[in-house]
Amino acid sequence: MAAPRAIHPTIVHTCRLFAFGGFVCIRFLFTCAPNPNMPNNLVSEAQPSPIQHQHWVEKLADQVLQRTSPPFIVTAGMTTSGPFHMGTLSESLYPASVVRFLEKKGETKFIFSADILDAFDAVPANLAEHTTLLTPHLGKPLCEVPDPLGCCPSFGEHFLNESLSIVEKFGIRPKVRKASDDYRCGAYDNYAKSFIREIDSVRKVIATTSLNDKFPANWHPLMPQCSNCGKIATTEITSSDEEKYSYSCTRKLKYMEGCGFSGSHKLSDHKYKLQWRLHWPSWMDLNGTHIEGGGMDHHTRGGSWDSLLGVFREIFKKEPPIGYKWGFVLFGGKKYSKSKGIGMGVTELLRFVPPQALAYALIRPDLEENRDLSPTGVDLMRLLEDFQNASVLYAKMFSANGEDIMGAVPADSENTSNSKISSESASGPAPSSITSPVSRAERKRALAWNLASSGKTWKAQFSDLLIYHILYSDWDIVSQKMGSEYKEDITFLAPYVENWEKSGMVPSQYTFSFKPIFARSDAAKQFFASLSPSLNALDIHNLAFNTAKSLNAKPGEFFVELYETIIGQPSGPKLGKLIEAIGAEKVKAACLQS
Ligand SMILES: [Zn+2]
Ligand SMILES: [Zn+2]
Repeated sequence: MAAPRAIHPTIVHTCRLFAFGGFVCIRFLFTCAPNPNMPNNLVSEAQPSPIQHQHWVEKLADQVLQRTSPPFIVTAGMTTSGPFHMGTLSESLYPASVVRFLEKKGETKFIFSADILDAFDAVPANLAEHTTLLTPHLGKPLCEVPDPLGCCPSFGEHFLNESLSIVEKFGIRPKVRKASDDYRCGAYDNYAKSFIREIDSVRKVIATTSLNDKFPANWHPLMPQCSNCGKIATTEITSSDEEKYSYSCTRKLKYMEGCGFSGSHKLSDHKYKLQWRLHWPSWMDLNGTHIEGGGMDHHTRGGSWDSLLGVFREIFKKEPPIGYKWGFVLFGGKKYSKSKGIGMGVTELLRFVPPQALAYALIRPDLEENRDLSPTGVDLMRLLEDFQNASVLYAKMFSANGEDIMGAVPADSENTSNSKISSESASGPAPSSITSPVSRAERKRALAWNLASSGKTWKAQFSDLLIYHILYSDWDIVSQKMGSEYKEDITFLAPYVENWEKSGMVPSQYTFSFKPIFARSDAAKQFFASLSPSLNALDIHNLAFNTAKSLNAKPGEFFVELYETIIGQPSGPKLGKLIEAIGAEKVKAACLQS
């Protein structure tokens, strides 16, 4: 599994503590047990305090706008040392969201560092069959390890290409700079020279900021590549000046050791990389970065962000760029693990939800909260509903050119959660669509939708597609039944529905078939007798609710009776939509004895 860039071993340890410790963690794909007596309101989160009303992307963009004018430079990067995963998605998605927001304010450049000069330190689990081929290359730069699949110039480029093709599905197209190219054309030579010139100050900054009281006396800014074995992870510098250096390939690492060779290079040979804690600030200075983020592991106390601040202030004598950090993506509170069956990889999740919805799930929470995904059918359905509702909110709150048309949010909307998006519930009162005033939480959701979707949305409810496809098993018929206005949505969503069906993701309430029996109670008979083709799903839902009310029946029990009459089970999809999808006349004829 690829680690985000080169992480110092002690930092990896801290990162694990963060992942499993008591860090703030918000589950945002709530497990949903259908409750027939409750309206299905989707806003259930506590309202934020007034100072929290801005979405995190707005807060970051504001900091950039206060400090500089266009063109804004947003940078990011990753080490492509294995298959794409949620961490890699975070590395791309969060800066891309900042870019999307800043682009509304002025020219914005998004530059992405592919750190494929980093050492290859482990054979990824899914390439275990290529272990014999890959093991001799451990310790070499990723751009010099062969691509085991044979389709790219190197291992690093294989996973870089894979990453870029996946992030493109999210509409992310950064300008990519390969670290290997930058070093080989000498872009880092002046940084290397100045670090060597000021080596004592540099050592002091790194030792202090990394909180390392056993900082090695021979620590050097450069990591040379061994001329004999080609490894970059096993060398150490024995002497240096601004033009040349000598090294020995004698370091012992857990996974390998040096070949014992001693040699020397000129700096202009470009056979080195800067230590990560120096590379990161140099990369940002080279690009004129205004803002770059990192995972919690880099931003922990003594992490590489602290070193970056020290290098900027004490070596470069400049103000550092704006930094930000993001939480982990967890599954049920745990790290993704294919072998333990925890969670899903990005490509697997994309079989079940469109990239826009997955992006929304990651962009919506506060940046530093851990995102705890629950990839079950019920929770993914909830995510899809939430995504669509957020698109409605956006249209209500922002103009076509992105201006906030709601103006100031009334103060009382913080405390009164009276603005909710309702959708048809199993037996609650009729939906009221969106009522005013909107809350700040809703404003954040609307903005998250805008950043995640890049304008792409769909009107068809995913749950409706499931119901129709379960009933008719043919997309042409589904299209006829749902109406031509949904044709494009159906084409877009059909592959996802089919993957849900093939993979057993369909929630139990949607596992049904039309198995009508005759209505028994007078209330049920009255309800079925009142059905007519002119009623839509909402009318039918209200009819059932009002029939129960007028006859003093308990709505919950009445709905159970109706489900049992129509589909032979006590619960099912939303009743109004179910009857509309089967056809009101057909249900009426089947459930009423003439
Ligand atoms: Zn390849
Ligand atoms: Zn060597």
